[in-house]
Amino acid sequence: MGMIDRAHDELWDDAVAFTRGRSPGSFEQWFSGVQFEGLIDGVLALRARDEFVKDWVEQHFLPTLADYLRSQTGLSIQTAWSVGGELDRPVVDGPIAPAVRPRVLRPSAPPPSPAGFEYEPVPSSVRKPALGGPPPFTLNPKYSFANFVVGPSNQLAHAAAIAAAGGGGPRHNPLFLCGGTGLGKTHLVHAVAHRVRAERPQAKIVYISAEKFVNEFVQSLQDSKMAEFRSRYRERCDLLLVDDIQFLASKTQTQEEFFHAFNALHQADKQIIVTSDKYPQQLERMEERLISRFTWGLVADIQGPELETRVAILRKKAIAENIDLAPEVVLLLAQAVRSNVRELEGALIRLVAKSSLLHRAIDIDFVRAELAVTAPRVTETGIDDIQRAVCHHFKLTERELCSKDRHKSIAFARHVAMYLCKQRLKASFPELGRAFGNRDHTTVMSAVRKVEALRESDPEVRAHLEALERKLGN
Ligand code: ADP
Ligand code: MG
Repeated sequence: MGMIDRAHDELWDDAVAFTRGRSPGSFEQWFSGVQFEGLIDGVLALRARDEFVKDWVEQHFLPTLADYLRSQTGLSIQTAWSVGGELDRPVVDGPIAPAVRPRVLRPSAPPPSPAGFEYEPVPSSVRKPALGGPPPFTLNPKYSFANFVVGPSNQLAHAAAIAAAGGGGPRHNPLFLCGGTGLGKTHLVHAVAHRVRAERPQAKIVYISAEKFVNEFVQSLQDSKMAEFRSRYRERCDLLLVDDIQFLASKTQTQEEFFHAFNALHQADKQIIVTSDKYPQQLERMEERLISRFTWGLVADIQGPELETRVAILRKKAIAENIDLAPEVVLLLAQAVRSNVRELEGALIRLVAKSSLLHRAIDIDFVRAELAVTAPRVTETGIDDIQRAVCHHFKLTERELCSKDRHKSIAFARHVAMYLCKQRLKASFPELGRAFGNRDHTTVMSAVRKVEALRESDPEVRAHLEALERKLGN
């Protein structure tokens, strides 16, 4: 099949040579049963004579091969296997069968699920997607709107997700949800899928991570199933949810394919939701035309949760998991773990596990002792404390402070907040950049320098700073 671009032939040959030099003698044997079908967007397409060869190569050779390819391309390497069919160009010539071939009756391995869909364990006879309907996929049942705690940090994203699910309010297309890791993007997207599934069972929902989208795309190329692939993403889809789009960085062919799917769906007014760990403009190695489309609808960011939200999340979680937590314990924990919700949940789970292992109640002393080990800076001021103080001082919302708004007064407050963070915390410039709406570290550096200079030259600025410093204490 000529569909796969063979531009990477040489790279592959090098990778094979590299691996052969580092592998036991059995290399020749196994690679007579493997065929290289292409390397696209970091997905290595291979065909194996049978499952046995595939498993062996996967276990014994693939890590080395993938390491080499990763080092040469700078891309993370996934593999797309096809099994069976004719091998007219095996990696190693010759009809050498593996010498020892245990005759084990293995239950036939489940067919690889088309990437992107986590199949419920259904018999293979019904595994083929029913005609006209999307294949089933599993969503995390816990990721519902009911389980999502809304606070100022995620209010906009939450409201937009509800609207996108058809729950009223202006619907934006696409909806671009962005924010740091562990802040609830995947949770919200699953919640949309749950709701649409419940309210419009006929709607064809496709949920996929960008990583799996790449893999599925390449696999479809390899198996000459592009028509099916395209129909799934362009026609047989009423709601497309793509998680972690930043993964498409550098994957030019997949970006191109996604671009066309996006256009087809958007033109048909089908809802698209994309999540990302960065704002569209900050996505790297992403085609301009995709970036611009991401901003056509609504870009809703999720910030780190405020203390009140962290408390509410812990409370909800404790109730759901039947954990008895005193209010002061909840508060202590919420004060200590500020970074993101995933870590907050992780801290709670660790405490629960440890308390049950040691037969100790989760009381304030226990938690304090635990936190002293894991999070030594319990009582220290954090970035969000400084941001909050600055917002209060300049009468801004935290969203404005971290927004893209370059209005002079907002930008000034932002610079002051960055300056204070740099002075008072051990945070690095990149860390601060992320905390201030995913800005570049150079932006933070120049802001800090600017405020330092103004502090010397402008009495008004000095007064602001001194007032804030009083507020923040020593
Ligand atoms: P992301 O996709 O942004 O990295 P996730 O959606 O995976 O983050 O969220 C990480 C964890 O935190 C999940 O277990 C999720 O349920 C939980 N979580 C995040 N935000 C909230 C929230 N506002 N309310 C309740 N749970 C949340
Ligand atoms: Mg996620």
